[in-house]
Amino acid sequence: MEHTNRSKREPVEVICLRCRYTEIVYFPVEDLPLCPRCGIRMSISELLDEGKSY
Ligand SMILES: [Zn+2]
Repeated sequence: MEHTNRSKREPVEVICLRCRYTEIVYFPVEDLPLCPRCGIRMSISELLDEGKSY
């Protein structure tokens, strides 16, 4: 198993195309998450700028 040691991670918004549920994940990620409601693979919605305050 390969271990990449990246300190920089990209926040990415993913969206479920069926129910419009959105979630933030941090790249690199092995797989896009599944929608907790529908159980289908979510799609990338947009790349987020770093430094945003939540
Ligand atoms: Zn969904």
